[in-house]
Amino acid sequence: MEQSQYSDASSYTHSLNCNPGPFCHCNKATMMSKSWTNENPGRRFFRCDVHGFSSWADKENPHGWQKVSLIEARDEIGSLKEELTNLRANIPKR
Ligand SMILES: [Zn+2]
Repeated sequence: MEQSQYSDASSYTHSLNCNPGPFCHCNKATMMSKSWTNENPGRRFFRCDVHGFSSWADKENPHGWQKVSLIEARDEIGSLKEELTNLRANIPKR
């Protein structure tokens, strides 16, 4: 269950804005993305298309009640999305 890979497509949201991030060590431009792992819920980072995680945009580690709340919100949104998908799948076709 533990998600620690930044390359997991389901654990981040892509391109929060159009500003390119700093260059990766491979000299490719990175894009800002948001991590949704248990360790770093809601934390923004710069992502290379080739290497995945490049560096943090938000320097501080998530901590305290904010971190717990973000994980709870993430999981709640996840289960709601799943429910919505199931409901849509059950709509009879006309
Ligand atoms: Zn790279």
